[in-house]
Amino acid sequence: MSNLSVQLTAPNGRSYTQPIGLFINNEFVASKAGEKCVCSRDEKEIASVYAAGEEDVDIAVKAARKALKDPSWKLLPPTDRGALMMKLADLIEQHKEILATIETWDNGKPYSVSLDDDLTEVIACLRYYAGWADKVTGQTISTTHKKFAYTLRQPLGVVGQIIPWNFPLLMAAWKLGPALACGNTIVMKAAEQTPLSILYLAGLIKEAGFPPGVVNILNGFGRVAGAALVQHPEVDKVAFTGSTITGREIMKMAAGTLKNITLETGGKSPLVVFEDADIEQAAKWAHTGIMYNQGQVCTSTSRILVHDSVYDKFVSIFKEVVASTSKVGDPFAEDTFQGPQITKAQYDRVLSYIEAGKSEGATLVAGGEPYKNVGDGKGFFIAPTIFTDVKDDMRIYREEVFGPFVVISSFVTEDEAVTRANDTTYGLGAALFTKDIERAHRVASDIEAGMVWINSSNDSDFRVPFGGVKQSGIGRELGEAGLEAYSQTKAIHVNLGSRL
Ligand code: ADP
Repeated sequence: MSNLSVQLTAPNGRSYTQPIGLFINNEFVASKAGEKCVCSRDEKEIASVYAAGEEDVDIAVKAARKALKDPSWKLLPPTDRGALMMKLADLIEQHKEILATIETWDNGKPYSVSLDDDLTEVIACLRYYAGWADKVTGQTISTTHKKFAYTLRQPLGVVGQIIPWNFPLLMAAWKLGPALACGNTIVMKAAEQTPLSILYLAGLIKEAGFPPGVVNILNGFGRVAGAALVQHPEVDKVAFTGSTITGREIMKMAAGTLKNITLETGGKSPLVVFEDADIEQAAKWAHTGIMYNQGQVCTSTSRILVHDSVYDKFVSIFKEVVASTSKVGDPFAEDTFQGPQITKAQYDRVLSYIEAGKSEGATLVAGGEPYKNVGDGKGFFIAPTIFTDVKDDMRIYREEVFGPFVVISSFVTEDEAVTRANDTTYGLGAALFTKDIERAHRVASDIEAGMVWINSSNDSDFRVPFGGVKQSGIGRELGEAGLEAYSQTKAIHVNLGSRL
C-alpha cells in the first residue's frame, strides 16, 4: 500500500484499497500544493484525498493536450476506441459491488440505489456511447459540378468536465461516454463532497488500457481546481453539472477564452395532475419524482399542481404513499428508501426552507423536521416533507430546495396550469398526468422545459436527450444529441475545376 492509497472497510464489511491521489497520465500522484479534501459521512471522516491546486490542473491539462496528439489515441480507429470503452464498462461491471459500496458510503444514497440504478446506468451509458464511437460521421454536400464539399466531425480537443455530488459515478459516465466516443481527451473534476468512487473508477480506466493522459481525474475545490480548469487557455470545452449560481460563474469565466460550454443546472420542475388522471399512479410517480435520492435530483418534480376537483384525493393518497414508501434509514440497510442529506450545509438548507414554509403560511402536512430515529440520531436525515396550500409568491414555491421537500397547489383550468407551470426562471423537467391524449401532447408542447414526462416522472434514459431551457442550462447530454456537445463540424471545399 503506497501513501497514495489507503485500506478501508466500509460499513457493510467490504474492505478495499482506496486510491487518494490525483489521477494524471494514468498514475496516482500527490498534489503539488499538498492540499486535501476530507470525505466524510454525517461528519465522520472516511478518508482524505489529494486536492488539485492550479499547478496540478495545469499539469493535467498538459497531459490531456499531449494525449490528444499521441498516435495511440489520435490514430486509434474509432471502432477500437469503442472497444476500449466496452472494456471499461465490463471492468465496471466486474467491480460494481465495490463501486456501489463506495458510492453509498461517500454519498449516503441507499446501497440498492447505487447498485441497481446508478451502476447499472453507468455501465449501460458507457456501452451505449461505445457503440457510437464509429458512427460519428460527416456529410457530403451537393454544391455545383465544380465543387465537392464534405464535412468531418472532429473532437473538440481537451474537455474540462466538472461534476456534482448527487450522482458521482453516473454524472461521470454521462460525461465520459460522449466525450470519449468523439475522440476527445479529458480532465474531470469531481465534487469535493464525493471524491472516493471516482478514484476507484480511475484505476479501472488504466486497467482497460486507455493511453496515458486520455482521461485525467482530479479532486479539488470548486473555487480553486474548478475555476482553474474553466479558465485554462488550453481547455477547449467545459461541461458542467451543478447549481445555477455556479453555472453562471462558469459561463463568465469561460467567456475569457470564448470556450464552448455545456451547462446542466438547477430546476423547480412542475408536476401537473389533471382531473382525469389515474390519481394513484400520479401519486406514486410524484413520490419517486421528488423523494428519490433524498430529493437531491436536479430534475426532481418539486412543485405539484393538482386540479381543484381531485386535489384532496391526490393529497391524501400522496401522503399515504410517502408514509408507506419513504423509509428513512441507514443507507446500507436493505429496506431504506431515503438516506441522509449529503452534508450539514444541505441539511441546514432544507431545514431553513421548512422554516420559510411555516412562516410564509403554507400548511405542513408531513415531515417538517429532522428524522432522528437512525443510529445515534446525529445523521443528516430529514423527514419527508410536504407543504400544501402553497402560493405562487412563496419562496418554497419558487426556489430550488434540493431535499425531500415538496409543495402542492391547486389549479382550475388547463391554461392556468400551463401558465403557472411556466412561471419560473427554470426549465429543466416537467411531468403531467392525464388520460386525454390531445391534452397530453398539447400541454407537453406548451410547457417550457427541456424534458416532459407524460404519465411518469424522472424516468430519464441514457438514450434520450437530457438538458434544460431558460436558467436550467445550455446544451444537451445523453442520446445522439449528447455527441453534439463533444464534436465539431469542419467543412472541406474541394475545387473540381474552377479556374481564376
Ligand atoms: P453545490 O452548490 O450543490 O455543491 P456546485 O454547483 O457548487 O453545487 O458544485 C458542482 C461542481 O462545481 C462541484 O464539482 C464543485 O466543486 C464545482 N464548482 C463549485 N464552484 C465552482 C467554481 N467557482 N468554478 C468551477 N467549479 C466550481
